[in-house]
Amino acid sequence: MSEHPVVAVAPERRLLELLTRTELDGLWISSPENLRYLSGFSDGRDAKLLLLKQSGTLYTDARYTVQAQEQSRYPAFIARPPATLDQAAPQVAGRRIGFEAEHLTVAQLADLKVHWDAELVETSGLIEGLRLVKSQAEIEQLRAAQAIADAAWSAVYHSIVPGVAEREIADALLYQIRQRGGTAAFDFTVASGPNGAKPHAGASERIIGENELVTVDFGAKLGGYHSDMTRTVGAGNPGQELRRLYRAVLEAEAAAIAAVKPGVRCADLDELARDILTSQGLGEAFAHSLGHGVGLAIHEGPWLRASSEDVLEPGMVVTIEPGMYLPGVGGVRIEDLLLVTPDGHEVLSQSPKAEL
Ligand code: ZN
Ligand code: ZN
Repeated sequence: MSEHPVVAVAPERRLLELLTRTELDGLWISSPENLRYLSGFSDGRDAKLLLLKQSGTLYTDARYTVQAQEQSRYPAFIARPPATLDQAAPQVAGRRIGFEAEHLTVAQLADLKVHWDAELVETSGLIEGLRLVKSQAEIEQLRAAQAIADAAWSAVYHSIVPGVAEREIADALLYQIRQRGGTAAFDFTVASGPNGAKPHAGASERIIGENELVTVDFGAKLGGYHSDMTRTVGAGNPGQELRRLYRAVLEAEAAAIAAVKPGVRCADLDELARDILTSQGLGEAFAHSLGHGVGLAIHEGPWLRASSEDVLEPGMVVTIEPGMYLPGVGGVRIEDLLLVTPDGHEVLSQSPKAEL
């Protein structure tokens, strides 16, 4: 399926600066998201990109001849390996070419060594670094993806009642998203009752019971860009203990959101939310990090976790998603999608939260 490259274009100036700073003559791009970001070509799983200081070549196969012409800012060479590597060989001979250690397989690296007379340099996170701060066009795409998810939620959340299967809720959300031109950003979670204790529960055939909490984590994907949001709702009337847990997570989330602005360390945001849950005896139950960046990948930098060195800047788009998970009891997660603005932040996810 072909999508138009409305958004993904990294400024060439920033690419040149990156190559100069890293003392590289070029980069061999194999991450699908990085390839899309740099070239505009949307099927990066079936393509590679050779990026040099003054030129670039997209390598893909004959299934994509037309699509490459339509989408790619770089000329395409249509072939399968090893013909692609042989075509590139003269351009890389004697040069320092970086490869993406997280995205190139051991076998592919061995192939490069056989076919190229180049100095191959292991790199990590270079293009991901460029992707941290979104362009205006990217922000609009993320906003549009989130708006689809919000509309889907408002059409579906009334159906989250005792007697309905988790999967039916996930299916209904997906249907609503597709009706609005999106696709699923990831496999949705609809976790009811004790399933709520599993942060990535998926959506099973379990029937939602009376007076349970139901955690729903879902998102839309549009033009390659993702949205990500979680709401926890009560089916029937959850008891006092479940309500206490819900309010604790809501309080932690609100405090973290209020603190989002440029210059804030992501690790400090994680600590802020964690301290609130810890003060209520729930620190242990907060079993994951506070959040992550969202863009061409559903999970990307900046990373909102204790070990993160990342600092927020205007144009970053991040989630804030504290949660707590108590085996045998259930769980709560509340997640919003935020844009960091010059003055603070804008919450992109507009869906109301349950009052429990
Ligand atoms: Zn999520
Ligand atoms: Zn998330």
